[in-house]
Amino acid sequence: MTSALKGKTALITGSTSGIGLGIAQGFAAQGINIVMNGFGDAAAIEAERAAIEAMGVKAIYNGADMTKPNEITEMVKQSVQTLGSIDIVINNAGIQHVAPVDEFPPEKWDEIVAINMSSSFHTIRAALPHMKKQGWGRIINIASAHGLVASPFKTAYVTAKHGIIGLTKTVALEVAQDNITCNAICPGYVLTPLVEKQIPDTAKSRGITEEEVKRDVLLAAQWTKKFVTTQQLAGTALFLCSDHAENITGTHISVDGGWTAA
Ligand code: NAD
Repeated sequence: MTSALKGKTALITGSTSGIGLGIAQGFAAQGINIVMNGFGDAAAIEAERAAIEAMGVKAIYNGADMTKPNEITEMVKQSVQTLGSIDIVINNAGIQHVAPVDEFPPEKWDEIVAINMSSSFHTIRAALPHMKKQGWGRIINIASAHGLVASPFKTAYVTAKHGIIGLTKTVALEVAQDNITCNAICPGYVLTPLVEKQIPDTAKSRGITEEEVKRDVLLAAQWTKKFVTTQQLAGTALFLCSDHAENITGTHISVDGGWTAA
């Protein structure tokens, strides 16, 4: 299904950790060259980059800060210059902050909107001319179940993720005849550092164990009672890049264990 993707280049924002890293590894296994991005310890990032390259593809790292539009534009430029093309963009970088709306720090609001929403506009804006020129492109925005439904105390995150769904639809219409598709993936809970960080605090504030947080809080709405895995998300993203998905555009695929069906 995916061998046609061999030799293409995917830029994956926020791919030094969690879902982005899982997608980078899954894509590299299909012969796709990778542009890694994200923060973290330089030696650890280099080790991940080298491990991806050892799968037989080219892999470069660019540390663009997703709150800075000029760094995003430069990253896209460097990707094309170094790897020859930019065929697939996965907008994945994201952060979280949890607080009641009337106590939500305005600077956290701005940061979440910049990283979780506006950065996707900037990568798409910079990458589209290259995709149009080559006559093929795939854009995948990692939204969330929170792009479709809300939870309390996550105003900025839920707002940004709903915004991503609107961006996905609009871009899809604009490039529908250019052989470029734009879709969102809406995961439920995945056990990545972003989620793991919330567990001890939630356990403390609710007076329950960390196991109870996983079962009764995080998986409360996930009807399968299973966390989504990064491998499952890589597989979904690969499907959206395949020829079978040529007519799937401007929509989302939920990978949420039934959360948003209820
Ligand atoms: P994570 O914390 O493991 O990874 C986030 C990545 O984003 C890291 O590589 C980090 O360095 C990068 N990043 C953060 N700020 C950045 C910035 N300013 N510039 C560049 N990179 C930056 O989180 P994750 O769980 O893998 O989340 C990835 C995406 O998936 C996010 O958009 C998140 O909202 C979404 N998501 C996660 C879950 C989940 O349960 N984990 C569920 C639904 C959606």
